[in-house]
Amino acid sequence: MTIFLKLVFLLVCRIPEDLIAQHMINNGTTSMDSELLWNKVCHELQNLISPDAYQRWFSPITACGYESGRLTLGVDNSIYQYWIEENYLGQLKQAAELVIGQNVDVVFESTESSPSPKEDSPKTENPIPVADVQSTRHKDYRAKLKANYEFRSFVVGVNNQFAHAAALAVSESPSKVYNPLFIHGAVGLGKTHLMHAVGHHIIQRKPSAKVVYVTSEQFTNEFIDAIQHGELVKFRRRFRHAEVLLIDDVQFFSGKDRSQEEFFHTFNALFDGNKQIVLSSDAPPSDVSNLEQRLVSRFEWGLTAELQPPDIETRLAILRAKAQKIKVRLGDSVLLFIAERVKANIRRLEGALNRVAAWATLNDRKITQEQVEHLLKDFIQQEARQVITIEGIQKRVAERFDIRMTDMTSKRRPANIAVPRMVAMYLSRRLTAKSLQEIGDAFGGRDHGTVLHACKTVEGRINSDEKFRQSVDYVTTKLEGVK
Ligand code: ADP
Ligand code: MG
Repeated sequence: MTIFLKLVFLLVCRIPEDLIAQHMINNGTTSMDSELLWNKVCHELQNLISPDAYQRWFSPITACGYESGRLTLGVDNSIYQYWIEENYLGQLKQAAELVIGQNVDVVFESTESSPSPKEDSPKTENPIPVADVQSTRHKDYRAKLKANYEFRSFVVGVNNQFAHAAALAVSESPSKVYNPLFIHGAVGLGKTHLMHAVGHHIIQRKPSAKVVYVTSEQFTNEFIDAIQHGELVKFRRRFRHAEVLLIDDVQFFSGKDRSQEEFFHTFNALFDGNKQIVLSSDAPPSDVSNLEQRLVSRFEWGLTAELQPPDIETRLAILRAKAQKIKVRLGDSVLLFIAERVKANIRRLEGALNRVAAWATLNDRKITQEQVEHLLKDFIQQEARQVITIEGIQKRVAERFDIRMTDMTSKRRPANIAVPRMVAMYLSRRLTAKSLQEIGDAFGGRDHGTVLHACKTVEGRINSDEKFRQSVDYVTTKLEGVK
């Protein structure tokens, strides 16, 4: 009996709702199950948060599915996801766990309008992202693509135009132009977005295309699973029959020899079969550590394209596009303020915008520059921290305390030199991710005990000497670039 029929049976027999929900949880869910389940979670949730908060943040949420401890909720505007994750995740999980009776992971899925579904797409009442529709049709070749990671939502600037053009060319003519295409760049610069865009584009042009997207971590895990369960043949069929293989974050293959070996054969099978391969990594092929040379050389066969951090114009364009998408009106000066402060990572740029947008939505009035600054304080500090170096700290401290840079590394010990040197060590510990030993090395080869002692001495003096605290604060503020 299908789950649907069981459900009808249970409903007709008027068995209490609790039992129905529990029954469905035990049996996996369909979209209908998850809706009923979600209604129950909402009911519990209303006991945990204020009616106003519930109405504002949860009423637009839909349920997409529940499977093995994972509740998937659909949001048509990422601002809801952001706000719920920041403020109500604990209560949401608590409510879900009350209903389901076990630990629950809550994940969100975008239900923003995707391109018009293909003629042969199944019609459903619940909005299901295009990628899911595709994946049910090609179960073994699931294209797990994020609905909104498409070319049309990718803002092109000088930093990414080459990678964008290469990805587009590959999508237009898979296996004809660049094979493999290797996209690399730091975290949050759009590698995954571009790879998914390639997948979407190919599926839009040819709905039956067998597009397989996995991270190298998933590839590795599935490979291990396949070995454990004696399903290597199935595993190989899944990957080697792909028409387009998108492998994200190949740096994860680092040091995993057997996975590399397996991937090497997958790569060869696809390449020889004239199938398109797109790879991404946080570094160019030759800089990925512990990657077999034969893989490095294959990764370099096609085209390598780098994503660089966006310039101010591109950051502003991204913010404008995202603000429009989440339907929040923020003045140009606010967007400019964010674009000027959050530079190194587009995911963080989005996070900053979401926070300001959430404030604006909640407060229903024009946000001032001071409020934006206050809201984004941690973003701004973290941004500054990323570029703070020990050398930069030494320079600032030397300026402030009027000593020479060479005194930072010298063995001289008069107090007017030793104290600033200790301040610089203390700030290096606080504002960089360097270890005690690395800091010691940068201060003329001192050992980690000396650095620890310096940190304690400075902390003690900060607590007892107001003028000294002000001096240290002044340098910190200068380094972090915040007022
Ligand atoms: P990576 O895989 O390089 O770590 P992602 O592809 O996950 O980065 O991108 C991080 C976030 O930034 C995503 O939400 C993505 O949509 C967004 N993003 C990145 N580049 C762009 C761009 N050029 N235009 C619009 N959004 C972008
Ligand atoms: Mg990524």
